[in-house]
Order: sequence, then structure tokens, then C-alpha cells
Amino acid sequence: MSAHCQSIRDEIETLEQSIELLDIQIQNTVDPIQKSALFRFRKQSLSLLQRKRGALKACEESGPPLPQVPADMSDFGSEVTQGIPGYELVAGKDTLARLFVGRRPPVVVMASELLDDADSDYSSKALGFDLNSLPIHSLPFNPARIDYAELEISGPSGTTVIPGDIGDGVFSNDTKSFSEDDNINFYIRGREISKPGRYRFTARLYRNGTLVGEKSLGQPQFHPTKDLRILVVVEIFPFPAEKWEILFQALEDLSRIFPIRSGLAPLDGDQEAGLRYRIEPIPIDFAWPDRTPVAQRLAEFNQEQSAAGRPDRAEHVLTIRTQQPGEMPLGGSAQSGPNGSIAGVTLNVDPPMDNSFGTLVSHEIAHNFLTVPHVGDEGVALNEPAAFDLVARKSVGNPRALMYRIYNLTPSGTAFLVPDSWRTIRERLLTRSSTGNDE
Ligand SMILES: [Zn+2]
Repeated sequence: MSAHCQSIRDEIETLEQSIELLDIQIQNTVDPIQKSALFRFRKQSLSLLQRKRGALKACEESGPPLPQVPADMSDFGSEVTQGIPGYELVAGKDTLARLFVGRRPPVVVMASELLDDADSDYSSKALGFDLNSLPIHSLPFNPARIDYAELEISGPSGTTVIPGDIGDGVFSNDTKSFSEDDNINFYIRGREISKPGRYRFTARLYRNGTLVGEKSLGQPQFHPTKDLRILVVVEIFPFPAEKWEILFQALEDLSRIFPIRSGLAPLDGDQEAGLRYRIEPIPIDFAWPDRTPVAQRLAEFNQEQSAAGRPDRAEHVLTIRTQQPGEMPLGGSAQSGPNGSIAGVTLNVDPPMDNSFGTLVSHEIAHNFLTVPHVGDEGVALNEPAAFDLVARKSVGNPRALMYRIYNLTPSGTAFLVPDSWRTIRERLLTRSSTGNDE
């Protein structure tokens, strides 16, 4: 007999007993009206009994219900994120679905539960304190272990199943941890959630080839967005050859930080890449703050694209000026507000600021969307333990606001738009003529 159906079995037994009692009552009742009422009640009870027997049969055939996580595992909740929990999710962008797990915490057993009175009396006298109040035993709990996890994704882009990243599959933390090493992580590529709409996520956990847990991670909504298209222009001096990689890394950071589809491609390339760029290596000569030559170059570029029948236009132009010997390190500059299209940055080489160059580029381009230029006043830390860098696939221990005041040497992997700016940028992208996933 299967224990999980016991409650139905109990109900059946009670019903059977009450029907027996009814039979006796009916035999002993003379009044015809009362008798007929009792008959009606008996009939209803029999019909209910029949339904309960059917339910018991179904219950026994279905086997015990599957737990969400195995019994030796703690379930600390789940999330679906694109970096910061407050973000409106964007269709087509790389996404992390994670199950916060750990082992079951050790169970403390009081001495009073293990000792009989005689022992307790003796110990109290001998030791000089009351052994009954002493937590003496922590039952050994092994770390929770699974050896496979998968996520079923079901929504407007169809149904797919992807494997999870479970590390070594052993979870020994006793409390909720945000580390990428302590949880069950599902890295969802943008293409698996390419169309806007609601997706249903279901995680399944396996041990020794057996399904030991099935947990819903909800049905989050993924919103439409449009692609970011940038013309990159080198300013006055040739771009140092050894810095090309830094520039491409900065574009990757920009792709992570913005509410756009994942994927980088040259302009006129893959029309589903959320960030498309053209890099013009021939320096153009102009002096800030006169932006006219840069605006002209962007307009000319788009005319050339149109005349040649190419698919892409650029909505933004980013200039890069390499710091020259004897010059102070500098930051950037940009047009602010919803119709901004021009941004400029300095590539500092003395000292080199390679690991924050992506923050600088993203910061200046974000100005092209945001009316309120800077967020935060003192301190740039975002109080967000769940912050996650989906490019490096690492939890970010010390996340920073991208739009804090002036450019602030924030390492590129730790910079995030605050949720308000993320929403504003997505809304403004949607008003542009760029390609996107909302068609
Ligand atoms: Zn700024």
C-alpha cells in the first residue's frame, strides 16, 4: 500500500462506517418522511464513496508525488535574471535561471531527548550543570548531491530542454548563497527565448539516473527590444594595434549591460545580433567640444549605406581618442537625452585603464538615452547580492551603478544599469527604426 494515498483511505473508511450506521438507523426508523430522508442521504454517501474509491485507485496508480527537490536538499527559491533582479526581461538576451539550493541544515538534538532520567540526574550532579538543556548532538547530514539537471523552456519560441550547470553536483552550503558555484544554474541562450512573450520554466533534477525533483521556476514575461547600431570612429591618432582586443571586449560589455538581444556582429551582418557595429580605422581630425564633424560623418555613413542598398544604418557614433604621451588620463563625453547619438571616449594608456574601458563606453552611450544623466550620489555600490555577470558567468560581489556621476574606473564586469535606466533605454530603443524582435 502506498503511504501517500493514506488520507483518501481514511476518508473511505469513515464513509463506510457512516453508511453502516445509516443502515441501522433506517431499519429502526418508522416515520416514512424521516426514512426517505435517510435513504437520500445514504444514496449520496454511496455515490461519494464510489468517487473516493476511484480517486484512491488513481492515486495508487500514479505513485507518490515527486518532490520539488530531493529530501536531503534545501530549497532556497529561484530566479530568472539578466543581471539584476529588478530588470524587465528582454527577449533574445542571454538569461540565467537558477535554483538556489544547499544541503539540509544539521539537526540539533537535545540531550534530554537521548538520555533517560537516571542518566540525566547522574550527569547533572557529576558535571555541575543540567545536561538536559545541552544540545549535544548534531546529526550528521551529508551534502546534497545530484548528478544531472535539466530545464524545460516552453513558450513563443517553442519548447526546448537545456542541461544545467551543477558544478561537481555536491551542495554543502547551509544557507542561500549567490555564488555561481553553490547553485543549479541554467544558462539560457538568447535564441532559446527569441520571441517576446511568456515562457514556462521547469527544472528537473536527477540522481543515479532517477528523477528526484521537479520544480517550476515560474512563467516570466520576456519583453520586446530593438538592436543597438553603432559607428565607431577613431579620433585623430591611429588606434594602437594591441588595444583592438580591449575595444572588442568593451563592445561585449556594452552588449551585456544594455537591454538588447545577445550577439555582436558587424553592421550589415547577422540581423539578429543585438549589437551591430562598424569600426572605421582611419582617424578623423576634429576637436571637442565641436561635435559637428562627428555628426556629419554619421549622416554621411548612413547615406553611403542607403546608396549601396545595405540593410543597416547606425543610430549612434562613438569616437575613440587614444591618450598621447604627456597627456592626462581623460574620460568621455556624450549627448544626453532621448535623441542623443554622439558619444566620445578616451583610450587611456598611461596608466592603462583596460579593465574599465567597457564601463566608460557603456556609460557614454547610455547618456544618449537618458535624460537624467547620473544616478547615485555618494558611493557607487548597488546593494544587490544577486547581481550576475552573464558574460563571465559569475556572481558579482560588488556591483556598481553604471551611471554614477562621472566615469569612475568601475571594472567592466561589475557595472550595471539600475532597473529604471534599463527600462528607459529599452523603451527608447523601441521608438527607433532599428531591427528588433518585436516584428
Ligand atoms: Zn556621465
